[in-house]
Amino acid sequence: MERIGEVQTKLLSEIAASDAPRSVLRSNELRELYAIIPTLPVEERSGAGKAINELKQALEQAVVSREAELVVIDQTPIDVTAPMDVNAELPALLPTEQGTIHPLMREIERVVEIFGRMGFVAEESREIDDQFHMFESLNFPKGHPARDDYDTFMTEETDVDGERLIAPAHTSNMQNRVIKKYRENLDRGEAIAAIVPDRVFRNEDLDARHEHTFYQVEGVYIARGVNVGNLIATLQAFLQEYYGKQLDVRVNPFYFPFTEPSFEFALSCPFCEGKDENCKVCSGEGWIELIGCGLIHPNVLRAADIDPREYPGFAFSCGIDRLVMMKEAIEDVRHFESGKLDFLRQF
Ligand SMILES: [Zn+2]
Repeated sequence: MERIGEVQTKLLSEIAASDAPRSVLRSNELRELYAIIPTLPVEERSGAGKAINELKQALEQAVVSREAELVVIDQTPIDVTAPMDVNAELPALLPTEQGTIHPLMREIERVVEIFGRMGFVAEESREIDDQFHMFESLNFPKGHPARDDYDTFMTEETDVDGERLIAPAHTSNMQNRVIKKYRENLDRGEAIAAIVPDRVFRNEDLDARHEHTFYQVEGVYIARGVNVGNLIATLQAFLQEYYGKQLDVRVNPFYFPFTEPSFEFALSCPFCEGKDENCKVCSGEGWIELIGCGLIHPNVLRAADIDPREYPGFAFSCGIDRLVMMKEAIEDVRHFESGKLDFLRQF
């Protein structure tokens, strides 16, 4: 069967030169070799069959190598050195000593630090959540009218219950998780004390006092014997530390589904202390309403496996943007997200 050797040499060189090497496997020469087998004497047939199969394998291997070569050839080289000349001068970036931390980030650190000294740990919120954590766990049952008070952004996607997901409109969405996370503190005779300073989203009409994206700090404190007096003392201590002066506070009854009783916490205007009728910050009223708060509703505690008769607690929620606006006399909340350097460089 010297014919096999001839065919092998011929087809291998064809494969090496071909742009479509696989077609060589269907060549007439190869087909003719297979056709010879039945014409051979019986004792030679199996040897010839084996030799032709080996030839076929050798050709297939050559095809695979040639195809790999062709792929490499097809790839046009990319000149990665083109966009940048390593010997060029450095681009003109802002000198680092002129950069500043964003005022909101700086003040969030300050808020976390003050509450930290009062024994509160800080937890992060999230940028998308389900309706259980946003509403049900906070004593807003399905169909509760107060759900509509929050102009929430919802996604097209739904959770396992078929409910649309929400960009959280308050950081209270973390209450249930935080209480469960620190549940064991109570068994050790310690309090649950946590704050959640993070970003929230509301579908608002924008003006100097309303922004679609802003920051809130939520707080929860749960321990035996907690009462409204502890709540007021805690918030008063925080505000005095934050504003660095003694301030009068005023507590008015209010309504929230997740606290009972509920209050709105106002502080005397740190700018005019109620002495300037033309004060822009408090509109001459002398008071600024700043924090929603109250004793945690028993249903909220039960939703987090806490017995409300044994462990009462308080919760509060404060807009960080407004806290900072009061401190720095910033007249428009939209400055924070505007990216205006002349605003940001003041801090
Ligand atoms: Zn004032």
